Amino acid sequence: MRLEPFVLAGALSLLPAASLWGAWPRRRGAAWGAAAIALGLWLFGWTRVAQGQSLVWLVAGAWSLSACFYAAYLVNRNAGEYERIRGMQDSRQAREKELTGQVALSKTRSKEIETEQREVLILYGVVKGVSESMSWDDLRPKLEVAFQQYLRVEEFVLYIVEARAQDALKTLLRRRLGSGVGASWDSLQRYLQERKLPMTVPHVLQSPERAVALPVFDGQHLLGYFYARVPEGFDPEALLAKAQGFIDEISFAFRRIRLFHEVEELSQTDGLTGVYRRGMLDERLREEVVRAKTFRTSFCLMLLDIDHFKQLNDSYGHPFGDQVLRRIGEILRGSVYETDFVARYGGEEFAILLPRADPAGVLRKAETLRKGVEDEVFELATQQVRTTISIGIAHFPRDGNGAEEVVRQADQALYRAKETGRNKVVDIAEVRKPI
Ligand code: GH3
Ligand code: MG
Ligand code: MG
Repeated sequence: MRLEPFVLAGALSLLPAASLWGAWPRRRGAAWGAAAIALGLWLFGWTRVAQGQSLVWLVAGAWSLSACFYAAYLVNRNAGEYERIRGMQDSRQAREKELTGQVALSKTRSKEIETEQREVLILYGVVKGVSESMSWDDLRPKLEVAFQQYLRVEEFVLYIVEARAQDALKTLLRRRLGSGVGASWDSLQRYLQERKLPMTVPHVLQSPERAVALPVFDGQHLLGYFYARVPEGFDPEALLAKAQGFIDEISFAFRRIRLFHEVEELSQTDGLTGVYRRGMLDERLREEVVRAKTFRTSFCLMLLDIDHFKQLNDSYGHPFGDQVLRRIGEILRGSVYETDFVARYGGEEFAILLPRADPAGVLRKAETLRKGVEDEVFELATQQVRTTISIGIAHFPRDGNGAEEVVRQADQALYRAKETGRNKVVDIAEVRKPI
């Protein structure tokens, strides 16, 4: 009996076990490989077994092949199941990741909404407060809070255009700016002009400091100007956009307060010359007498009269006379301190009340005014016209202890100025001096 069929049969019968051992749990290739080897061995053995052993070989083959294929089937199924579970796990993990992302996103969004809501509330409060303000003093604290809480800036300045001053902007409020570009209107204006940056549109400044600069503009008039340093970590463009939105919201208040002041001033000022009316002067004189008596201080009254004005009217016409009056009003207003009070006293006469002024200083000031008018050239078509003024001066309490007496004394001094040649300044004290 040949040994070879027995070796083959042994190998064949061991193959199912070896296949399971080697391929479990998921080596599909190994399981199918073992089944293929079993089939190969069996076919090979078929050519080698002796006659009469065919049945045994057939049975052994059937057993081994079916066991091998069954093992391959089991490994295959197990691997399939494993892959399915693995796939499910992966997709669950991916979903989990996605959900975590969405939770984080919605948290951020809800925080944003909270901030937005808070800001809208602040804005609402400010706009309401601002809309109720009738004066700059009233507006100042409200805006200061708004700039800090809504715009979140800490270093800023807001300039405003006052009704009377058309060009010079006044500081309405300033916070922690110290020195630098925006610290004064002059330096800010110079900065913009040097860089040819138009004043009517907003700008982001990068040097010498990061700042936003924007006008309060109603489309026609400059009503004010806002300047703020950009805080650390802020996006300047975003701050500029926010500030612009805010300024747009409140610019109506600027317009209203300005109009309010304009109306108030119009009723107090003379329509032609822009200086105060006679009635206002009388009132101020009475107040000043009370104040000077209470605090034992003094004040001065100047009366100014244009020389030969009738003649000027006659030669060049009344409208030109008006033009001269208007310009002289401007010169006077522009030459005195803010605390001094310029009024139109009569047709071509002006009065200036100067609180706490010393006689020598007043004489110098009057001389400047006289010279200012003397040097002024009034243009009429191709002609150049000049005129002069005479000035009379009296002091309280030096020259009288009541408003009327002081006016009378100033008038006498003016009369003396006219009498002695015009285009001159006379202090009533000189008139009384014994010669
Ligand atoms: P002087 O004061 O140097 O003695 O001479 P005067 O010619 O200025 O003196 P007077 O007071 O006689 O004349 C004042 C003139 O001023 C008379 C009037 O026609 C003119 N006048 C007064 N109010 C106005 C005004 O609102 N507009 C114009 N154009 N003229 C005025
Ligand atoms: Mg006169
Ligand atoms: Mg006159």
